[in-house]
Amino acid sequence: MSYRVDTPNPNRGFPQYCAYCGGTDLFPDEETDFAWACQECRRVFSVMFHGRNDPANRPAPAPSTAEALAASLEHHGHTPGVRIP
Ligand SMILES: [Zn+2]
Repeated sequence: MSYRVDTPNPNRGFPQYCAYCGGTDLFPDEETDFAWACQECRRVFSVMFHGRNDPANRPAPAPSTAEALAASLEHHGHTPGVRIP
């Protein structure tokens, strides 16, 4: 017999400290799926991850194996794509 009514929220963040008083006595609250109740200051607050911003400088995409091989052959003076019989 299970007492759980709904499945747990896998995206619920787990704060280590209360955002207001720094207390550590926190419990999930039924206010929202992301709410936590502080047992020390009695505040209810939410912790939610919204995503990440794009980086200021994105690294160049890595070449494929064939492109890297061709660049290496060309760098060392060989002609890529020509087979020697
Ligand atoms: Zn608190």
